[in-house]
Amino acid sequence: GARGLTVIREDLGDCKRCKLHSGRTNIVYGVGSPTAEICFVGEGPGADEDLQGEPFVGRAGQLLTQMIKAMGLEREDVYICNVVKCRPPNNRDPEPDEVTACSPFLIRQVRAVGPKVIVTLGKHAAHTVLNVKTPITRLRGTWGAFDGIPVMPTFHPSFLLRDPTQKKFAWEDLKAVLHHL
Ligand code: SF4
Repeated sequence: GARGLTVIREDLGDCKRCKLHSGRTNIVYGVGSPTAEICFVGEGPGADEDLQGEPFVGRAGQLLTQMIKAMGLEREDVYICNVVKCRPPNNRDPEPDEVTACSPFLIRQVRAVGPKVIVTLGKHAAHTVLNVKTPITRLRGTWGAFDGIPVMPTFHPSFLLRDPTQKKFAWEDLKAVLHHL
C-alpha cells in the first residue's frame, strides 16, 4: 500500500548506489495506484522521464497509456515502475551491476503494491523479475511467476514504436492479463 511505498522511497533517499546516479536529473520512482491489480515494470527512464521524474511519459509512455486505456483502465488504476530508476546515458541498456543495485527496490515496490498480475515490458524487466535469460521473443505471452504473483512478459512500447507489426502480439498478451483478472 501507500505507506509501504513511502517507506521504500525514503530508504532509497538521494541514492548513489550505482554509477547511474551521476547523470540523472530526477530519480524516477514509480507512479499509480499503491493497491493496483496490475503492475507494469519497464526498463529505465529516458530523457522525458528523467526531466519529469515520472515513468513512461515520453513517446513510448504515450503508447503504454494507450495500451492501458485499451484494457479499459486509466494510468491511475495501475502501478508503473522500472528496473532502474536513473536514466542510463544515451538510453543504453542498464548494466548488470546497475540492475543488481537498483532492482531490490523494484522488488520491494512490487511487494508493497501486491498486484494480481505483473506485466513486464521488454527484455530487462522480464529477466529481472523472472530471474531468467530467455530471449524476450520466446518469453512473451507465456505466464511466469514472481513471489506467487502471475507475470506476463510482453514487448517494450519502444520496440513496438520501432516495429508496429508486433503490436498485435502485445495486445494478445494484455488480453490474456484481462482474461486472468
Ligand atoms: Fe540508485 Fe537505482 Fe539510481 Fe542506481 S539507478 S543510483 S541504484 S536509484
